[in-house]
Amino acid sequence: MNLLALPAFTDNYLWLLHDDHHAVVVDPGQAEPVLQALQKQGLQLQAILVTHHHADHVGGVNALRQVTGAAVYGPAREAIPAPFTPLAQGHRVNVLGLGFEVLDVPGHTAGHIAYFCPQMDGAPLLFCGDTLFSGGCGRLFEGTPAQMLDSLDRLAALPGDTRVCCTHEYTLSNLKFARAVEPGNAALLQYLSRCETLRAQGHPTLPSRIDLERNINPFLRTRESAVASAAAGFAPTTDTRDAVAVLAALRAWKNDFR
Ligand code: ZN
Ligand code: FE
Repeated sequence: MNLLALPAFTDNYLWLLHDDHHAVVVDPGQAEPVLQALQKQGLQLQAILVTHHHADHVGGVNALRQVTGAAVYGPAREAIPAPFTPLAQGHRVNVLGLGFEVLDVPGHTAGHIAYFCPQMDGAPLLFCGDTLFSGGCGRLFEGTPAQMLDSLDRLAALPGDTRVCCTHEYTLSNLKFARAVEPGNAALLQYLSRCETLRAQGHPTLPSRIDLERNINPFLRTRESAVASAAAGFAPTTDTRDAVAVLAALRAWKNDFR
């Protein structure tokens, strides 16, 4: 199986999974990069998987469906370009001979879902849309901090070797924020310098891994005392024993961080 991150817009990746014959694309905000890749490699698009309703994730769905006839799957609780197969927690999608489990991960949007494949070429694979980013998480446009914490906790509990396919190349700016939160986290500083090298060479920093994210992503580390006290340094009324309050403070801090 081949896993490609097709760049789109300024910092999106359209993830394309293919077996040299058939392909699946996740969150095609644009059709053009996908059509080019299909044509160049002689692939037939079998399915389109959508994580949430934002335009940069669904903008290319209708055009791709029209040209390729691909089946569309998406979150049951969101308005995405119809017709599509509505999915929610516990559902399963079979594509390219792989089984993807659907997880409800509200927070960035109210009906956001993720797709988890327990085994693809030797390791699990996660398409998490705008819920989890490397070093960060999505903004809370429709959900609450409690929902986002629960969603992130469930993603963090996936196997450590899970490859994490996020939809945006936000890693460097996330890691600069993470460094402000946890300046003493050696794994984080090491990862930041590795990602700076990758970006300087024009390479994606993704996919990430769940075990790495657990060690460096402040939004997965709200119960660490260093993270909680940094959050309270930003928002002094934060109860440092309350992970929801810590996550809310981190998210507010990050929103204005430059
Ligand atoms: Zn989004
Ligand atoms: Fe997005």
